[in-house]
Amino acid sequence: MKATCRFTLAALALAAIAVGACTKRDDAAAAPPTAAEAKQFLDGVNDSMKRLEIEQNQAGWVQQNFITDDTEAIQARVNQRVTDAIAKYAKEAARFDKVDVPPDQRRQLNLLKLSLVMVTPSDPKEGEELTTIMARLESTYGKGKWCADPSKTDTCMNIDAITKVMAESRDAAKLQQAWEGWHTISPPMRKDYARFVSLSNKGARELGFADTGAMWRQKYDMPPDAFMKELDRQWDQVRPLYLKLHAYVRMKLHEKYGDVVPATGPIPAHLLGNIWAQDWSNVYPLVAPKNADPGYSLDDILKQRKTPPLDMVHAGERFYSSLGFAPLPKTFWERSLFVRPKDRDVVCHASAWDIDLETDIRIKMCIDPTAEDFTTIHHELGHNYYQRAYDMQPVLFRDSANDGFHEAIGDTIALSVTPEYLVKIGLLGKAPDASRDIGLLMKRALEKVAFLPFGLLIDQWRWKVFSGEIAPADYNKAWWDLRLKYQGVAPPSARGEEYFDPGAKYHVPDNTPYTRYFLADILQFQFHRSLSQTAGCTLPLHRCSIYESKPAGAKLNAMLSLGQSKPWPEALAVMTGTKQMDASAIIDYFAPLDKWLDEQLKGSKTGW
Ligand SMILES: [Zn+2]
Repeated sequence: MKATCRFTLAALALAAIAVGACTKRDDAAAAPPTAAEAKQFLDGVNDSMKRLEIEQNQAGWVQQNFITDDTEAIQARVNQRVTDAIAKYAKEAARFDKVDVPPDQRRQLNLLKLSLVMVTPSDPKEGEELTTIMARLESTYGKGKWCADPSKTDTCMNIDAITKVMAESRDAAKLQQAWEGWHTISPPMRKDYARFVSLSNKGARELGFADTGAMWRQKYDMPPDAFMKELDRQWDQVRPLYLKLHAYVRMKLHEKYGDVVPATGPIPAHLLGNIWAQDWSNVYPLVAPKNADPGYSLDDILKQRKTPPLDMVHAGERFYSSLGFAPLPKTFWERSLFVRPKDRDVVCHASAWDIDLETDIRIKMCIDPTAEDFTTIHHELGHNYYQRAYDMQPVLFRDSANDGFHEAIGDTIALSVTPEYLVKIGLLGKAPDASRDIGLLMKRALEKVAFLPFGLLIDQWRWKVFSGEIAPADYNKAWWDLRLKYQGVAPPSARGEEYFDPGAKYHVPDNTPYTRYFLADILQFQFHRSLSQTAGCTLPLHRCSIYESKPAGAKLNAMLSLGQSKPWPEALAVMTGTKQMDASAIIDYFAPLDKWLDEQLKGSKTGW
């Protein structure tokens, strides 16, 4: 009878039933499960998950490459089956909590229990209520629109249109109107969100976690409270640089907008070029240093040469080959999407895929001959090489060391796309001298340094909401307290509890954990510094590229191939020699900008 518990069934639905059947039988017998059964269970899950994930990847690929009602329906069905299966397996894994199993199996069982972002309570009525609420939250956000004049539909703006206004307009009144407009989509979510918190906490407690936030933090291979302290420690490392950037940008915005921007207080959240003030790149023209033009434009070079998209991808592949990675498989070139098709709708947002969890890796991008796309290709391929490196691991280990690592790897490689690298590959004649670096560093800081406090505070808010420390009656107040504390931004007008401003950020109604983006932002600089040292780079850190360094490639590969088979501090140590995340690499990287900011601020007060 045990053979039926091996989940060698092709169809997921059947496999899921098999798991349930095993549970029932063992419960009825009341015999404690054995180590052999745990092993058998994991073998079955790895086998079943592989089939399911392949099916999910195929459905997802087709849906994003051929957007129709039918492909969307097919994908939604597969997604539901995968979610249901993981939920069953996660609950099943808890049976083996007290069984003595080898460490790698214990890790697989733990990962399985932690693979869900949300646990549905076992009470079917509550489970259904939670599913319905989640669908409603997502669609409220997805359909979110603000109409300047509700009687005229052509005045309605979705998030894309709002994003464009926030990026391009320099009219403070218009920006405030658009900002307040977008934040009208979320008050209807408030009641649903409070109910979602209570129901998802109930599910998390059934799996043995204190609440949903504690379950999220448990993923990071350390006690949840220690992890929170660790994040604070990293933030303290970069905070002085953030404060200077904040004070400098505030000074320039004050020059531009006058008293709308206080000379010493928080920056109004609607004037930073982004609806969430999480990326300030769009205000670069307002804060650009003088004489900081790098003296070349990769955009122009790629356009002048009419560089075909495929050539840009080949350049990306050559980067990884120069580190010692094997060439991409033939199927990558045959099956990837590189250009926007003329005959159909596709999702053009760049992504990297690992269809069969083995060799069938692909990217999906609509490549234009731009500097941004050239860098993005290097980033996406980073995901692909990571996926291929861990394909020898059990399926449950085929992911990055923690959820910050995958994004960090792509971005690490993107940091190596330097002027010197462009010279080496023949795209640029001569690298600009160091006096031009401030402009490039400023642009990068507006994106990466400005993001850090935002990347941190979303989950600071959510963890407190899940734990009950923030009550529903204080949702909005607590949100703005955190935004002031970390980002030093303030809303353009009073925001009482009649609003629900967290809901205007996609990841809140969508319930996607956010700390990973903070971690990725920190890690990429630590990776870059460590690999640059291995590559023997003696230039300032922001000028280093690991291109052509086989020793750097070997270290990178040693970490990538671990997947998530080891706790992330061990994976980190394999590549960098340290088990601790270290934000000081950001300080090193931006050192010239830091010095320049000191000169601009001339001792004037930072902070708010
Ligand atoms: Zn990515």
